[in-house]
Amino acid sequence: MRDFDYKKSLGQNFLVDENVKKKIVSSANIDEKSLIIEVGPGKGAISKYLVKLGVPVVAFEIDTRLKDELSKIENLEVIYGDFLNVDLNSVLSKYNYENVHLIANLPYYITTPIITKVMKINEVSEMIVMVQKEVGERFMSKPGFKSYNSLSVFLQYYFDVSEVCKVNRSCFVPVPKVDSIVVKFVRKKELLKVNDIDKFFKLVKDSFKQKRKNLRNNLKSYDLNKLESILFNLNKDLTYRAEQLSIEDFVYISNNI
Ligand code: SAM
Repeated sequence: MRDFDYKKSLGQNFLVDENVKKKIVSSANIDEKSLIIEVGPGKGAISKYLVKLGVPVVAFEIDTRLKDELSKIENLEVIYGDFLNVDLNSVLSKYNYENVHLIANLPYYITTPIITKVMKINEVSEMIVMVQKEVGERFMSKPGFKSYNSLSVFLQYYFDVSEVCKVNRSCFVPVPKVDSIVVKFVRKKELLKVNDIDKFFKLVKDSFKQKRKNLRNNLKSYDLNKLESILFNLNKDLTYRAEQLSIEDFVYISNNI
């Protein structure tokens, strides 16, 4: 790997620890109707294990210098280009599948756009992603914790989110400045009943707008009298901050405001 000119700007820290690679792949729940997508296969650290699962694997890689290396991996389809510009539905339409799994060591500079793009596809039943440790902790965070934010709410509304394992920076080449975590997202079979999903998302975003401020300040544009009586039913009031509200609380408020 020493002869490769790693591009920091593309988040190129390649995974070299075989145990971590195996752990990522074995934590997936694949069946014969699965399709796997991988964003950023790099030199194929994880792809080599994914193709052994016997289902189609489609990888998206921006760096064409990796073509030679990746072409050696049998049964791996690689689409070269920026994943964020790919029409994912049209790529997926060429395959027969019932459930889609994103399994990847993500380029960290675009972690959130990748996850939000993939999660919008309903057939995506599972995402197993390596991300920067602090970012992964936010994805899993619960009310009352500093790391709990609007993204924690959005993601956990759709998915059960859990830790697969923490990964030390020494497991990568070149060694990054941060540690990592592998996080597993499993799409919930039943979602909490939200009357108006856009309204719900807007309420959550507005509530977290300025993290230190309370609901009275962040939700000034809402009917505060009404909000107060809704919060009263939840044993809460306008002095609460967004990080003290559960997903169920947000759903209740948005359905009633
Ligand atoms: N999967 C490999 C591994 O674990 O060793 C490489 C992971 S590395 C953290 C991230 C990979 O994402 C790199 O190969 C990088 O070139 C690729 N990448 C960066 N930006 C991308 C983008 N916008 N679309 C597709 N791939 C991208």
